[in-house]
Amino acid sequence: MIDDKALVVFSGGQDSTTCLFWAKREFREVYALSYRYGQKHQNEVDLARKIAEKADVPFEVMDIPLIGHLGRNSLTDTSIVMDQEVPERGLPNTFVPGRNMFFMSIAAVYARERGIRHLVTGVSQTDYSGYPDCRDAFVKSLNVTLNLAMDYQFVLHTPLMWIDKAQTWELADQLGVLDLVRNETLTCYNGIQGDGCGHCPSCKLRNDGLHKYLALKATREKLA
Ligand code: ZN
Repeated sequence: MIDDKALVVFSGGQDSTTCLFWAKREFREVYALSYRYGQKHQNEVDLARKIAEKADVPFEVMDIPLIGHLGRNSLTDTSIVMDQEVPERGLPNTFVPGRNMFFMSIAAVYARERGIRHLVTGVSQTDYSGYPDCRDAFVKSLNVTLNLAMDYQFVLHTPLMWIDKAQTWELADQLGVLDLVRNETLTCYNGIQGDGCGHCPSCKLRNDGLHKYLALKATREKLA
């Protein structure tokens, strides 16, 4: 146990749900914070709430619709068709500019009010989809900035930073929540819970990782 309290930036997706249970293993008290930022799939927040209840973790939602209004992207603007591949130049239109910076900054203020130093986020640069605010350098830089901004010693934790999707499934399995993560989280860009639509970029990444992990697990069991 590293310390006693942690706040998880929680969307109810595969990554942040795995982080929620990771945090429950590492900290005595865990809190979850979700955001309503104008995302097309508002049921994301309801699913997040249900998962937090199952995990017995206090849950709160912040409304920050300005993020959707500030920049154009296909996660909040229904008139934009979602990029199915990472484009050769620039960022996919699923990128919400500033999202993680806002999420983490708001989470830091929220945490400081409650005497929490540890912040947990499910970002990863291994299965890098081109999002600059998922990179390790960004998170480390923001950690320094937040500490300076509020004269407080935050510690930002990124348990998934250097592992791929298959290893994220493995971590969920080790934490005893593989089925929960598989059935109850929402990662799909088309808003379908669990295994999802199967063809959006997010589903492809998630399902490829799952099949890779399950195949590896079956091989290990055969050899054991
Ligand atoms: Zn999908």
